[in-house]
Amino acid sequence: MALEKSIKISEVKGIGASFGITIGKAFLVDKGKLKIPKTKIHSDKVPIEVAKFYKCIDNVIEEIQQTKSKIEKKGKELYKEELLIIDMQLLLLNDSMISKKTVELIRDKKINAEWALNISLDEIYKKFENMDDYYIAERQEDIKHVFREVMNCLMGKRFNTLEEIKKPVILIGHDFSPAETIKMNFKKVKGFITEVGSKTSHTAIIARSQKIPSIVGVPNITDIVNGGDDIILDGYTGSVYINPSYDTINKFKALEDQYHKFFAGLMRDKNRSAVTRDGYKVNIYGNIEMPQELDALFEYGGEGIGLFRTEYLYLSGNTLPTEEEHFKVYKSVAEKIYPRPLVIRTIDIGGDKFLPGYNESDQLNPAMGLRAVRFCLKELDIFKSQIKGLIRATFLFDNIKILIPMVSGINEIIKVKEIINLCHKELNIDNRDKLKRVDIGVMVEIPSSAILADIFCQYVDFFSIGTNDLIQYTLAIDRLNKDVSYLYEPAHPGVLRLIELTIKTAKKFNIPVAMCGEMAGEIMYIPILLAMGIESLSMNPASIPLVKEIICNLSLKESKKIYNRIKKLHTCIEIEKFLKTELNSKFPNLSFLF
Ligand code: PEP
Ligand code: MG
Repeated sequence: MALEKSIKISEVKGIGASFGITIGKAFLVDKGKLKIPKTKIHSDKVPIEVAKFYKCIDNVIEEIQQTKSKIEKKGKELYKEELLIIDMQLLLLNDSMISKKTVELIRDKKINAEWALNISLDEIYKKFENMDDYYIAERQEDIKHVFREVMNCLMGKRFNTLEEIKKPVILIGHDFSPAETIKMNFKKVKGFITEVGSKTSHTAIIARSQKIPSIVGVPNITDIVNGGDDIILDGYTGSVYINPSYDTINKFKALEDQYHKFFAGLMRDKNRSAVTRDGYKVNIYGNIEMPQELDALFEYGGEGIGLFRTEYLYLSGNTLPTEEEHFKVYKSVAEKIYPRPLVIRTIDIGGDKFLPGYNESDQLNPAMGLRAVRFCLKELDIFKSQIKGLIRATFLFDNIKILIPMVSGINEIIKVKEIINLCHKELNIDNRDKLKRVDIGVMVEIPSSAILADIFCQYVDFFSIGTNDLIQYTLAIDRLNKDVSYLYEPAHPGVLRLIELTIKTAKKFNIPVAMCGEMAGEIMYIPILLAMGIESLSMNPASIPLVKEIICNLSLKESKKIYNRIKKLHTCIEIEKFLKTELNSKFPNLSFLF
């Protein structure tokens, strides 16, 4: 480890998003705020700096050209807007005042290319500053975006280096999109730290599913940390230690060891059923984002897949997946886990996951915009190819169920069923009865669907409660916004009432009810969910052994007692305090988790 006296030592805090402790070197992925190196150069070096600058311009042009041809292949008409922006970017790079000015500055002032580019950009922005015009402001954004790429190249900090990390590192960045996260080489990423985000942002969910300790919402972490700094990341408490002392490192190594031993103990019982001491059984399923996670599901003792998010199919490639690709993926996952259940969710694109080529920024409030089933009902071709792939897989494997996300009213489910029927007809499959055997369920993640649970029961075969969104929409807090993450309260009495209403109604109408939001894997809430009568919990696979441990050591009777007390409390703070005291006394060896 580096010597303390010559470097910055500090401790900062964020939100622990994925459990675990990890120690490693910082790898800075700085997208927005690059620290520009400023050096004077000798006259001999001028041609080298100029050449370096033009080389980076050429590199960025080439990349943009590649993106352009990919988009053109998808359809020039469909992506008119994107192509216009691309042409504008190319124009800016090929022949702009900024390039000319930068080269002039390198030659006249004898400064490095990064510094020269920075000065030319500052001058341009100053000119823009006094112009109160929306169009001009947009152009400024275009310039910033495209020359940030050039600056990145000059500084050897291309974003795609994310995929090319050589040694295991702790990634530090302003934010990583789910698409970037999916493309990362997880063997090389020991942990994540981001400036924005929350426990239920998709980046955090993917980190959990990959068992990568992570912390989100650490203000200014990209300013505080330098690439190569020694970092301790404590995903349990959300603490980041920068260039810590030997003593601190040793203390955390010992803690890491202790946790490993504890979890190794749990793994010995991973295949037991989750049955309370008085005989109430809960099905324990896993959430997966990609087929490769099936191994983790088996490794941790999952009894099936309660949520297969299918967005990765759209985020990992450069083209839209074909019906055949859908079919092959669903068939292969269904076959591998047969006869255990597999709940496949149709795409939930548009909230914080976007299709490449679709304009992600033109919705002011994407979480409430054209997302999930709304997007699918508008982009019928995209939806139909997924549905057809799904139908074909269900003909081979009857363990598949179809789950529709973000349903807010009955009309949407009626339309989805019409499309399923249409796809069935278009596929020209004779045996129509087979279609009836495919269960179609809805995610209960918008308050209206919980309130209308009794009506939904008449249209669908099962419910899966998506607490990540149900909490977001019930409490009106953006699940990605760290400034309001303190309001993100699974045990908020308003949220609990909606969950209870959904479970009780499903039971009354005799349809299966599961929970697949992150709350399902949070051990603190297990007594509440048991008391409400939850039948199945689906979570990131790594949480399964611990959840089984808690359920097996509780009774339904005592859970009901706990919940009856909770119902008399008015705030989430009181509820969580009460739950912590109860669980601490029942599980004194797990106090580090509550
Ligand atoms: C949820 O909202 O709880 C959920 C499981 O779906 P996602 O996190 O993918 O929105
Ligand atoms: Mg959701």
